[in-house]
Amino acid sequence: MSLTIMRRIKFCAGHRLFGHGGKCEHFHGHNYVCDFFVSSDTQDAVGRVIDFSDLKTRCKGWLDEHWDHSFLICQDDHNAINALKMVTPSRMFILPYNPTAENMAKYLLEEACPVILAGSGAQATRVRIWETDESYAEASVDPQSGTISSIYQEAISGD
Ligand SMILES: [Zn+2]
Repeated sequence: MSLTIMRRIKFCAGHRLFGHGGKCEHFHGHNYVCDFFVSSDTQDAVGRVIDFSDLKTRCKGWLDEHWDHSFLICQDDHNAINALKMVTPSRMFILPYNPTAENMAKYLLEEACPVILAGSGAQATRVRIWETDESYAEASVDPQSGTISSIYQEAISGD
């Protein structure tokens, strides 16, 4: 049996989608909501997967340090990287791929969460990034293989 808890962390960041061809290729920002789902087969002596306050400190700490009030930029977007380097002060976080909500969820699950949860005994199994109130993308770990198996976006409302 696996037990799962979720902690929501809000942050804001700028980005643009490299080569998008539409309005999202312009610099703009979002008030992101990030849901971290953390699982464990075991519970601590108190009965927890992980202390919620510890989980908050870990997740919020990483986001505050790396993504909050930063521009998330694709490593191939040299034009944006050069532009942001001219602005002082500015914060930039280079991603190995376009900063879509799907890729942000994937990056957090694959790259950030192992660091965030190191030594806690818990493992991140799903990360959901809400880009608007109506839509999110998520990355999740396949419980059988342990690999990240699905990334999808779901419209909550009809628009
Ligand atoms: Zn956007």
